[in-house]
Amino acid sequence: MAKCVMVLYPDPVDGYPPTYARDTIPVLDSYPDGSTLPTPSGIDFTPGELLGCVSGALGLRRFFADAGYELVVTSDKDGPDSVFERELPDADIVISQPFWPAYLSAERIAKAPKLKLALTAGIGSDHVDLDAAKARGITVAEETYSNSISVAEHTVMQTLALVRNFVPSHRYAVDGGWNIADCVSRAYDVEGMDFGVIAAGRIGRAVLERMKPFGVHLHYTDIHRLPDAVERDLGLTFHPDVASLAAAVDIVSVHSPLYAGTRGMFDATLLNSMRRGAYLVNTARAEETVPEAIVAALESGQLAGYAGDVWHPQPPAPDHPWRRMPHQAMTPHVSGSTLSAQARYAAGTREILEDWLAGRPIRPEYLIVADGALAGTGARSYR
Ligand code: NDP
Repeated sequence: MAKCVMVLYPDPVDGYPPTYARDTIPVLDSYPDGSTLPTPSGIDFTPGELLGCVSGALGLRRFFADAGYELVVTSDKDGPDSVFERELPDADIVISQPFWPAYLSAERIAKAPKLKLALTAGIGSDHVDLDAAKARGITVAEETYSNSISVAEHTVMQTLALVRNFVPSHRYAVDGGWNIADCVSRAYDVEGMDFGVIAAGRIGRAVLERMKPFGVHLHYTDIHRLPDAVERDLGLTFHPDVASLAAAVDIVSVHSPLYAGTRGMFDATLLNSMRRGAYLVNTARAEETVPEAIVAALESGQLAGYAGDVWHPQPPAPDHPWRRMPHQAMTPHVSGSTLSAQARYAAGTREILEDWLAGRPIRPEYLIVADGALAGTGARSYR
């Protein structure tokens, strides 16, 4: 019997929710670039349900049963004795998530001789060793655009939280205080600031569009320039490289994929080239920074604040320095896993599975690796 191993984050500590805060989620017509939302033949869940945890199983339990697959769903993913590693040797399909990444390293791929399809429920397949997948002819795919706007919204929220000093102010309120001077002595308006994104892809561009009404001066750098009309409409200043952008703005937001060219990008040298008191927001990947350099820059005052939802490894150890560094507004890796996003990436996962099982081509925008090479979105993102 063919087998799928699905690695998802654990259920809520109080158990799988019997009810939700809202009864429905909005129905979208299309993604911002006009591409269609996922088109599976059907879904076995109600949009708005918690799908990304073990009990949710991406709403795919019945689908796999009907397809004649054994389905193993686990959150136990790290170490040689983990359920994930024990189930790998006879897995045909692995489904994992960036939020709770089942690191599919070259060593693990070598232990999975039957593996043919590695699906990321969400966006960002850097937790899969893509070179090893290419060498083994494993198809890697993800649901492009499924949570891009979710991440953009979180980025704007964290930018405002940092600049306006929201987190300490909230803490004073719930702790019974009314320490106005303590709250405002690090609080500013974003209006008039220079705000820049590294990589104006789906998320980066959506962040620029959402920041425009705040009256900030918008900057970006990317490998390819946006069309003139977009630059004009948003009033964008283009920078040829990251160093030029970092030195010219008050707030930097990172949206580049993780690959050799972006790994360790925010090191001490780049951080020290920024304006004193700059803010850095990173919802892309933690490995695009040097973590100790971020801590040092916050402690010295070179950075006024750091926020984001991406860490390394995930989950981070209880004593990870980013948990206690000053002037930060970190969250766990949640931006792309709202209930709204889950409905889209669960449906997209099913669309990919339906196509793959029927021998139909997978949408190119979902492909990362196919036929031994980077393909579709992967060929653009990971180079
Ligand atoms: P896109 O593929 O739409 O955009 C990525 C952009 O990065 C492209 O415009 C690309 O350039 C550009 N780029 C690549 N390398 C560089 C570089 N060295 N310098 C500047 N620009 C570069 O991806 P998304 O916007 O959808 O996602 C971006 C990243 O966000 C993902 O790779 C993932 O790691 C992360 N992510 C995080 C989530 C979360 O929950 N926190 C959820 C979803 C994604 P071009 O194509 O012009 O060559």
